[in-house]
Amino acid sequence: PALLVGLTGGIGSGKTTVAGHFGELGVPLIDTDLIAHALTGPKGAAMPAILEAFGAGVIAEDGRLDRAAMRELAFSDPSSRKRLEAILHPMIREETWRQIAVAADHPYAIVVVPLLVESGAWQTWLDRVLVVDCPVEVQLERVMKRNGLPRAQVEAIVAVQIPRERRLAAADEVVDNAGEPSTLPQRIGPIHQRFLELAALRCAA
Ligand code: ATP
Repeated sequence: PALLVGLTGGIGSGKTTVAGHFGELGVPLIDTDLIAHALTGPKGAAMPAILEAFGAGVIAEDGRLDRAAMRELAFSDPSSRKRLEAILHPMIREETWRQIAVAADHPYAIVVVPLLVESGAWQTWLDRVLVVDCPVEVQLERVMKRNGLPRAQVEAIVAVQIPRERRLAAADEVVDNAGEPSTLPQRIGPIHQRFLELAALRCAA
């Protein structure tokens, strides 16, 4: 693609929902969360290395990563989170680039990276940052409802993510997703046009 767009947003902001609308417009979507899940699923390519690093205690019966067990381990031994990332991140990166290459014929592609701004290094490989935004209170309500979680637990997740203002400060484009889902396409259309124009400019250059 001539243009690579990173799509990010806080938990429950609507990244998946917004990405789906771009997908309907024919834009290739590369979802790093899906990639991470596939790598750590049953027979996932990362599982042998995870078994070797952390032992069978973090592997569920069906062979997938036992996320609860891994969280507990990371809690008691903070270095284990770093070691897990050292295994996963290069594999996620490799699969992301493989999928980007598959989308080569499209003017632009969207890479969904939930913790994009937290990761800090997006400027080196993405052309634009698209932030899906809504007030924290709306995020809390959506995630409480979707996951059946108590408010305090969702608040704790939001608290470890980058603050809304800092995420917005990193944005080139923002999709406001505080309103009705039915009004999303009319906000996404102009952004799609803008990305197509930017991609065309790059091709002409
Ligand atoms: P996560 O970070 O947890 O993966 P996400 O950012 O991908 O979440 P979605 O899964 O798209 O967010 O949306 C979170 C929840 O809010 C879902 O249940 C979704 O159906 C709902 N939702 C998304 N957009 C809206 C909207 N505009 N109005 C009401 N509900 C919405």
